[in-house]
Amino acid sequence: MKLVIRDDDTNFFTYPDDIEIAYTEIPDFPVSFAVVPMVVDVIGGCPETKGNENPRFIGDNHEITNYLKDRASRGTCDILLHGIYHQYKFPNGVKTPEMVWRERETGDLVKLIGYYKKEFEVLFGIPVNCFVAPSNRIMKKGIQAVYQNGMNFSGIIPITFDRNVSFKSISNYIYRWLIRVTTKLPYPGILDYGTHYELNACNQTNFEYLKKMFEYCKKIDAPLAINVHYWHIRDNKKHYKGFFDFVKYALDHGAEPSRMRDCFSYQHNKL
Ligand SMILES: [Zn+2]
Repeated sequence: MKLVIRDDDTNFFTYPDDIEIAYTEIPDFPVSFAVVPMVVDVIGGCPETKGNENPRFIGDNHEITNYLKDRASRGTCDILLHGIYHQYKFPNGVKTPEMVWRERETGDLVKLIGYYKKEFEVLFGIPVNCFVAPSNRIMKKGIQAVYQNGMNFSGIIPITFDRNVSFKSISNYIYRWLIRVTTKLPYPGILDYGTHYELNACNQTNFEYLKKMFEYCKKIDAPLAINVHYWHIRDNKKHYKGFFDFVKYALDHGAEPSRMRDCFSYQHNKL
């Protein structure tokens, strides 16, 4: 069974030490980093971005880009695209994540996402085939722009049915709610939309909960992806005891440390 750690928010203000300190307990795990290309302010998130008003390009921080490029070339990490600015806007006082406010604007999302996918491929030297929406929120135009650029998506089940209606999307929607109702767990495996794959990442750090997910994933031969943030681990080590204990437990019990891309290609080859 494949085990994936999706770590969000690496950006211009991140240094290799932030990541190394967060992962001292499992330094060899091939973490999948969801990286912000032009960070503004991850409000309520990564503290180093606080108050930053102008977009800062990750490529201008050579320490972090060289570090990630080196790890990517050795297969010890994956690179995912995490929004563009990770900026929140506040129409009528409502905190609105990037892929929701961009949905309402006229800009060409296909071009924008395609541009930064290519920038990343040059910067990090590997193909980039997965998009992660800030706050896990994405809508119709956004998801279309993702798959029109040949990318897959990692995110959490949206409450509303905001997809293009197709047979596959309706059956996926029903299926994952059925799983949620019957198992009380969010569906962890890969969903095939015909246009792209989606792999949800669970954001729990409780040992017993993760163990339950692990048993379920083993039973149905699904990968388990867990979503964390290096800056939050770095600043709250105690909170992650259950998470690290679980990762070690899972590795001792047959989980394969995997990158996000390994799950998508495995799924693709299964068909
Ligand atoms: Zn984020």
